[in-house]
Parts: sequence; C-alpha cells; structure tokens
Amino acid sequence: RVLVGTKVDESHANWVTAYNMLTGIRVSVSRTNAKLDRELTDADFEAKQKSTFDMCVSSPAANEQTLTMASTGNELVPSAKYDFKFKDYAPWVFRRLRALFRLDPADYLMSLTGKYILSELGSPGKSGSFFYFSRDYKYIIKTIHHSEHKFMRKILKDYYTHVQQNPNTLLSQFYGLHRVKMPYGKKIHFVVMNNLFPPHRDIHTTFDLKGSTVGRDYKEEDLKQNPRATLKDLNWLRRKRHLELGIQKKRLFLEQLRADVLLLKRLQIMDYSLLVGIHDVSRGNDENLRDKTLQVFNPSREKSTDEDPPVGLQRTPSKLETARKARELRQMIRQERPIPMGQAIDKMPDVLGVGHSRPGFVFNQDDGGFQATHENNDPADEIYYLGVIDCLTHYGIIKKIEHFWKGLSSDRTQISALPPDQYGDRFYNFVEGITMSSEEAQREEIRREEE
Ligand code: ATP
Ligand code: CA
Ligand code: CA
Repeated sequence: RVLVGTKVDESHANWVTAYNMLTGIRVSVSRTNAKLDRELTDADFEAKQKSTFDMCVSSPAANEQTLTMASTGNELVPSAKYDFKFKDYAPWVFRRLRALFRLDPADYLMSLTGKYILSELGSPGKSGSFFYFSRDYKYIIKTIHHSEHKFMRKILKDYYTHVQQNPNTLLSQFYGLHRVKMPYGKKIHFVVMNNLFPPHRDIHTTFDLKGSTVGRDYKEEDLKQNPRATLKDLNWLRRKRHLELGIQKKRLFLEQLRADVLLLKRLQIMDYSLLVGIHDVSRGNDENLRDKTLQVFNPSREKSTDEDPPVGLQRTPSKLETARKARELRQMIRQERPIPMGQAIDKMPDVLGVGHSRPGFVFNQDDGGFQATHENNDPADEIYYLGVIDCLTHYGIIKKIEHFWKGLSSDRTQISALPPDQYGDRFYNFVEGITMSSEEAQREEIRREEE
C-alpha cells in the first residue's frame, strides 16, 4: 500500500519543515474557526494572513499562542523550531470549503496535531512535489510549485462555486492553502487535501488514468519489486479492466465527471488524472501490511524515550474518550484558546474507520468508497476509491511548448500535453469508454469478436 512512507520524526531531514507546517495550520485554523461564522465577501478570496512564529519576540497573537503552546510542558522543543513565517491564504473561504465537505473543525485539527504527525511519501510524481500524510491518514499535504499556488488563488472563486453547486465533486477537495518560510530557507507553498484512499482498507491496485497512451505504461516486470505501484492507462487496457458500475451508478459517476471536466476545461486546466484505488473485497485486508501501517501511524508501538502525554497512548481510546476529547477541543476553539501539541488524540486507523465512510457523499457511500455493481445493481467484489487529482496545472506557455515539441515526434492526439478542451474531451471519453458493468463488457467483447 502506498501509505507505507517514511515516518517524519526528529531525525528526519524534513522534520522541522513538517512540524512548522502543522503548527502554522493549527494556529491559523483555530484562529479562524474561533470567530463567528459569516457570509463570504469578494475580499475573502484574496485575503492572506501572515503570522510570525518566533519565541524571542513577543506581541502578535501568533506569538502568544506559540508561547503558550511551548509552555504547556508537553513537549520540549528548542525555540528554533518556532522561528518561521506562516501565511494562511483565504482562510474564510477554506473554512467554508471544509464545512461544505463536512469536516468537523475539531476533528480536522486533531488529525493535523500530534507528535509524530506525518509520514512522508517523498516525491512520487515528476513534479518534485512532496506528499505528507496526516498521522491518521485522512489528509494529504502536498507541496506545490509557486505557479500552481498563484493559479489556485486565481481560480479559487470558481472552485468554490463549483463545490457549492456540486457537493459530490470528484475533484480534489482542498481544505487549506498555506506558505511556510524558515529563516534563510525558501518559501514552501502547500495545500491540504483529502486522501482518496481509506485508512482502514488495503488498496490492492492503483491506477492513475489520463486517457493518454504515450508513455502511460508502468513496466509490468517492475511490479514484482513494487507490487503496489501506481499503474497507468496502458496497464489498464492491457488487463482489460473496467470500472464495473451498473446503470444507476454509472450514470451518477459520469454525470459528475462531466460537470467536473467542464470546469477544468473552462479554467484551462490539463494534465489531471483519475486516480482509481481498488479494494478487492475477496482478498480483504492483508494483515501484514496493516501492521506496518499501524507502526507508521501509531506511536504506541514504538519505543519512545520522549515524554509523551499519557492520553490513550497504551491502548486505543474508547469512543467515549474520543468524543470527550473532541468536545474539549471544540470548546478550546470557541474560547480562542490555543491548542497545544500534546493535546493530540492518538487515534488509530481502526477507530477512524468508523468515521471514514462519509455519509451523504455519493462516491463515499460504500465503506468510504464506491462499490462496483452488476448491471442489476447487485454489489460486485470490488470497492473503488476515486477522484480527479493533480488539477492545478494551467495550460500555460510551458505546456504549449511541450505540446509542440512532443507533437513533432509522436501522434499529436495521443501525447499527454494537449490544449485543455481536447485534453478534457479525451479524458472524459476514455473514462466513459471504460465504465461498464461486467455484463456490458461481456456483450461488448462478443460483439467485437463478431465484427
Ligand atoms: P506529476 O505532475 O509528475 O504527475 P505530482 O507531483 O503533481 O506529479 P500527483 O500527480 O498529484 O503528483 O500525484 C502523484 C501520485 O500521488 C498519484 O499518482 C497518487 O498515487 C498519489 N496521490 C496524489 N494525490 C492523491 C490523493 N488525493 N489521494 C491519494 N493518493 C494521491
Ligand atoms: Ca499527475
Ligand atoms: Ca502535477
């Protein structure tokens, strides 16, 4: 499973960066959520709020909070760790977005709090972005390029309106846009978004589909070494796979995808893909992998010499404890009290499983995902975890050049860099073409043979 990343602890090269990211998020999110809700204004989409975290200087609100946090005694952190600048972009818009995606503010904060908070996935794509999972595996922090950051701010209003009108959008759910800067360091932009894959289910196969065939192949022989690698379009086609959805689910899925792609085309976005994680119900969860997961995310399994807070560390906290803790946190938010690091609840993936099936969201209705169905709507043996990811690439000058050069040597319609309209059509048509129940696929196969 992809999640077995490297745990980011004190010995990790990016520990300070990760720690500062989380501290910044925690302070800025609790600050915004502490205020009385209000309607958004145009200015909210352009807003940015700067905080300076520096133990030696005292006066702005953020400094006070940091000082309080450091003096709770739950952690012994050298002051240097707090020496950074943090920017929170459009905090009110993201507060609203989190509400639209039905995240509980206290829950969000708890997920992004804790001692060994993140696990790093390194840089899986070519872009150089880093991915970090929150310890409970619900959220992903992705570092993004400055151009993606600028672009995201530009399209934020369109994105927001789209989410309002399409609560079941398949597009990445963005929960925050931030920037962190350490002394002498460069500015790091990042987004917080949903992890499409659930904490409580193994994903047996993953595909990243663009509808392009040039270079969209993961070497099958490499799969032996890396059985959970992300496969691509050609692997999908070679395996004669289908997104097996019966009539009703197919309609729901394609209608939403069509609306989402329409927005991406309008905003001149390209290079996105449909991420498909497949849980094979007949295989269930592989216990070994599950154990590994827990090691990454559950500090109680590790020898720790730190003075960890005693909260539920030796065992899974009961539902009651979790609820009580959440209540306390909510109260802290209401009273604008800072939330110290040590207040993290050590929630384990199995506890989280309960909350992960997100009621009310069409594509998360079956165990957090969307179960394959037969033509008559009977459930089939797979659960899909689906979404459109990497949707911040504007078809700017770089892509135009790439399209020109690559087009000289390959079939122009098959390469991945296409103008957004063509990209979107090709993408949609590809996905539509592979979405059919097993019965439909069989009929198709017979028809083809007869031709
Ligand atoms: P590139 O631009 O080279 O494609 P990137 O750095 O922009 O790469 P993405 O395409 O966003 O990266 O993601 C790379 C991989 O990370 C995906 O193929 C997928 O395996 C994983 N991933 C990305 N976003 C998510 C998500 N929201 N949930 C689960 N996995 C994700
Ligand atoms: Ca990508
Ligand atoms: Ca990208």
